[in-house]
Amino acid sequence: MSRLSRLGDGLAEPLLVSNPVNVRYLTGLESSNAFLVVEPGGETALYADFRYLEAAREVAGVTVIETRRDVVGELAEQLAGRRIGVEAGHLTVVRRETLRGGGVDVVGTAGVVERLRAVKDADELDALQRAAALSDRVFEELARERFTGRTERELAWHVDRRFRELGAVGAAFETIVAAAGNGARPHTRPSELVIPPGTLVTVDAGCVVDGYRSDCTRTFATGELPDDLAQAYQLCLRAQLDGLAAVRPGAHGRDVDAVSRVAIAEAGLAGAYGHGLGHGVGLDVHEAPVLRPESTDVLEVGNVVTVEPGLYLPSVGGCRIEDLVVVAGEGCERLTTCTKDLIHVS
Ligand code: ZN
Ligand code: ZN
Repeated sequence: MSRLSRLGDGLAEPLLVSNPVNVRYLTGLESSNAFLVVEPGGETALYADFRYLEAAREVAGVTVIETRRDVVGELAEQLAGRRIGVEAGHLTVVRRETLRGGGVDVVGTAGVVERLRAVKDADELDALQRAAALSDRVFEELARERFTGRTERELAWHVDRRFRELGAVGAAFETIVAAAGNGARPHTRPSELVIPPGTLVTVDAGCVVDGYRSDCTRTFATGELPDDLAQAYQLCLRAQLDGLAAVRPGAHGRDVDAVSRVAIAEAGLAGAYGHGLGHGVGLDVHEAPVLRPESTDVLEVGNVVTVEPGLYLPSVGGCRIEDLVVVAGEGCERLTTCTKDLIHVS
């Protein structure tokens, strides 16, 4: 059954799909200015301007309607008098008002296509597997690189360049290389800091293959570590393995997150792990389902999620260990398989 048919089967009223990632998921069309109106049952109109018309006509099972560049202005005219669901998390207020001004009865919806995207099919899993394998290779190479004396930015560029050289479309997100005190900031940007000896360096990186993203973090040691950082790494690894063991079909996102906090809390470091355990990954690097304290998601076979606890010791350093896994069988299978033993680099 096509993705459009599956979507249409679950709709009570027509849905205007404006998020280009959702348009791509449903039709394969990559465009910054194409919109879908999917009717209950799955009949679909694809609205695109001249620039995307040829590609739009290659999409099977849709009616292509050429519009002017201002697609939403034209949709407001064409859909006047109809009641239409919109993607409230994506459609801008300006566009919503344009539709309303034209006489469209706009109803906000949330996560309709995203719920379908959360369960990956065989082709998607294949692309995710290839993206993860490529990032595994880059992390394995990185373990043989010299770190000390190079800047975080230079090392991040090295990672990005290898992704491209090995055939990825590019990096899945801005590569993080965080050394020493910077490692205490989970989402810091690579800086001009020259990586010193005797500390931890967190590298969080992923690549894009056929539109699908990988996401992996490993933390490296530049020589002998002070005790607090050496212990933080082992504790982070314990939490990561506990989290992995809790990922299974039927598990609640918040419960999996909670399992990953037990060892860290017992060590008196609960406050040093201030973010969620993980997130779904696919066409976007952050998507459904999520593993965090407030999650209402329940895992099912075919979900692809990260498992990434971290420990952040202000101005001292930090570590994070992240795997990408697919929920399968009685538990999960790792897509990222490079070693999690603490790697000492020069
Ligand atoms: Zn990551
Ligand atoms: Zn992540």
